Amino acid sequence: MKYGKPCARCLSKEAGGEELAELIAARIAGMPPDIRADEALYQKRLAACLACEDLIGGMCAKCGCYVELRAARRHGYCPAARRMW
Ligand code: SF4
Repeated sequence: MKYGKPCARCLSKEAGGEELAELIAARIAGMPPDIRADEALYQKRLAACLACEDLIGGMCAKCGCYVELRAARRHGYCPAARRMW
């Protein structure tokens, strides 16, 4: 797997390149609709992660998840806040 230039405060495409971004997008696309967050909530969560000092290379330093996958689950939560985003 070829990765792009590492990026500390960014999401999968910038952190891991197109291939990682495509894998994550495919995982999200494969989630059953009833467990997926709607687009507005998903984008709101990603904006919070992008502003967070615990976002490292597309992953949350608090839990090790790719934040795009975590944000895509309707009942996902921020491990730092211990609550829904
Ligand atoms: S899930 Fe929470 S702690 Fe993790 S990067 Fe996003 S806002 Fe920060």
